[in-house]
Amino acid sequence: MTLASLLVFTGVGEELELIEKQIPEIGHAEVLVKNLYTTLCGSDLHTFCGVRHEKTPTVLGHEIVGEVVEIGSGHTGRDYAGNPLRVGDVVTWCIFSSDPQSAEALKGMPQKASGLFKYGHAQLTDQDAFHGGLAEYCILKENTAILRIPGDVPLAVAATINCAIATVAGALRLAGDIRGKRVLITGLGLLGIVCTAMCKDAGAAMILTADINSQRLGQSLAFGAGDTYLLGHSEVNAVTDQLQPSPEDMDVVFDMSGAPDAMEMGINSLRVGGIAIWVGAVFTARKVACDAEQIVRKLITIKGLHNYNYEDFVAAVEFIGRCHKDFPFDKIIGKEFTLSQAQAAFEYALAHKPLRVGIRL
Ligand SMILES: [Zn+2]
Repeated sequence: MTLASLLVFTGVGEELELIEKQIPEIGHAEVLVKNLYTTLCGSDLHTFCGVRHEKTPTVLGHEIVGEVVEIGSGHTGRDYAGNPLRVGDVVTWCIFSSDPQSAEALKGMPQKASGLFKYGHAQLTDQDAFHGGLAEYCILKENTAILRIPGDVPLAVAATINCAIATVAGALRLAGDIRGKRVLITGLGLLGIVCTAMCKDAGAAMILTADINSQRLGQSLAFGAGDTYLLGHSEVNAVTDQLQPSPEDMDVVFDMSGAPDAMEMGINSLRVGGIAIWVGAVFTARKVACDAEQIVRKLITIKGLHNYNYEDFVAAVEFIGRCHKDFPFDKIIGKEFTLSQAQAAFEYALAHKPLRVGIRL
């Protein structure tokens, strides 16, 4: 029996508490992983400051990369790609586990299937505590898709695969073929930045990014944006300082902001046959207003995405393995902290709003 540290979140306004617990015997189909690096996702920050609610106490952090320490005797011994899984492998895993035989899973929506469990979102109990990224270890439950990290991907980048990057892979799946398309991306947190890079890689003819933050607009240029659009500031282009008209004639618009204004602008910018993919709206906001007649006459499609499926997870690992050097992914971490400094990491993330802060374990 080994003691390991966990950082416990008990509620809004409470200091995170570092505790020690014994790592239990793992179940027959479980895998014990030593967490190596965790990045704080926007939803971690939302929980920390009370915009969203989790059952507490909990261990936050779900963008995790770790090293396999022990594989249960009943585990297949293989990763999701079918390759042998070995002690010492550096791996990422799906943010969720669920019943692969349930109706939703069989329809390609395992993130909504029965028996759903989400890492970094679960209540800490005496029997079940090692399920978050802000801890030294994580126990991966049965039916968790695990994939090895390609050799030269930095840990800080690898950590973002199982939330931000896989979610964007899902958004591109829903959008269909991007090659030759005119794309608008609203909201340039990490999802929007990754979406820019993935659309560039997928052969978009033109990528326009939009945000209320001019610094983030500038950042998106390095990830493949061809032009930028400053939202909510009299429509002055952040890069050229010139007034610009509202975007139009877009084939695909991705909203990563969740802001009703941005989603409305996106719908209005679509040409005939356009597709809107909404991903950012994961918090309470006013209802979006759209002109149904325009949706009908312009043959517009709107699709929503929450989390991702296994296909998206595989695509995310493939994309990062192949493209992490093609874009400045090494710049996404604003500052790095240790586990015992995680309170300061949350405060830094909220005050300075970098794309991510990192916790090196
Ligand atoms: Zn997340």
